[in-house]
Amino acid sequence: MVERCFVTKDLDEALRIRKETGAHPLAGGSDLMVQYKQGIGITPVFPWPVMVISGIEELKGIRKLDDGRIEIGALETPSAIAASDLVPWHVRQAASRMGAVALRNTATIGGNIGNASPKGDLPQPLILLDAVVVLRSADSVREVLLDDFIRGSKKTDLHEDELITAIRITEVPYSYAYYRKVGTRRANAISKLSISSLVLIEDGIIKDFRASSGAAGPKVIRSHEVEDLLKGHAVDEVPSLIPAITEGWDKAISPHAMPAYRRGTTARALEHFLSAVATLPPGPVIE
Ligand SMILES: Cc1cc2nc3c(=O)[nH]c(=O)nc-3n(C[C@H](O)[C@H](O)[C@H](O)COP(=O)(O)OP(=O)(O)OC[C@H]3O[C@@H](n4cnc5c(N)ncnc54)[C@H](O)[C@@H]3O)c2cc1C
Repeated sequence: MVERCFVTKDLDEALRIRKETGAHPLAGGSDLMVQYKQGIGITPVFPWPVMVISGIEELKGIRKLDDGRIEIGALETPSAIAASDLVPWHVRQAASRMGAVALRNTATIGGNIGNASPKGDLPQPLILLDAVVVLRSADSVREVLLDDFIRGSKKTDLHEDELITAIRITEVPYSYAYYRKVGTRRANAISKLSISSLVLIEDGIIKDFRASSGAAGPKVIRSHEVEDLLKGHAVDEVPSLIPAITEGWDKAISPHAMPAYRRGTTARALEHFLSAVATLPPGPVIE
């Protein structure tokens, strides 16, 4: 049973319905249908009106914008994102490890962000890359840094009349890239933790270092303070800086469940990546 259900294939109509009724968007439904189910095989009961948005073409597509940024429509699925050469490497890695095939074909990036679970896989690499979320209402459009948009566990800055329409990513150059998701099994496992990192080296000097952790706090963690510990140093100084970085990162994260496991595994992942930076030729580092 649903209080009221709207179905629309038109973005303007969707924005008008949202403004007039406050209906909650339902995209792939893989979070909402589970969160509000009443029992096995029984239709979920939503406490508010729902609007099915999965048919809105304007929310689909992956494209390069005139300003060089990559735009991913809010309805794009993990399968499409993982298969697109336009999408940055870290985001493709995360998309390719979400759920199992059926989920990767139905879940959406807009739903993953809208759900704002600290265990959601896509916000983590997107925040590493300083991605922005595009939010539209019938009267306005705004771009917000995803790291600011997600305020905490299940909390976002989405206004009652807005929809997420797209995510925009500026290509970030790197010499080394790392992505790791730790789950109980390869398919259909929610993250126990995930971590992305990148290092850019120019003339033997670390020009950029970034890291982001998922499932290690109420939202994705980044620490500019820790990132600054590596920037400006020569590559051959990296091994001696690893302890300070893993210690700094340990202070930045705040895992709630299984903290010892999550802290230890996060430290080992960072150590593994940074050791590769010090010893291996440039490229993606896969565990
Ligand atoms: C078996 C199973 C396995 C899973 N495995 C993973 C996994 O490995 N990794 C992972 O990250 N997640 C996983 N999930 C969770 C879920 O599939 C993802 O969060 C998914 O991306 C949600 O997308 P959706 O389109 O289905 O969201 P929906 O359920 O449709 O919506 C989720 C939330 O986002 C809001 N929303 C949706 N679209 C918009 C929009 N355009 N604008 C504003 N708000 C919007 C909705 O109102 C709702 O609050 C799993 C779920 C299941 C059932």
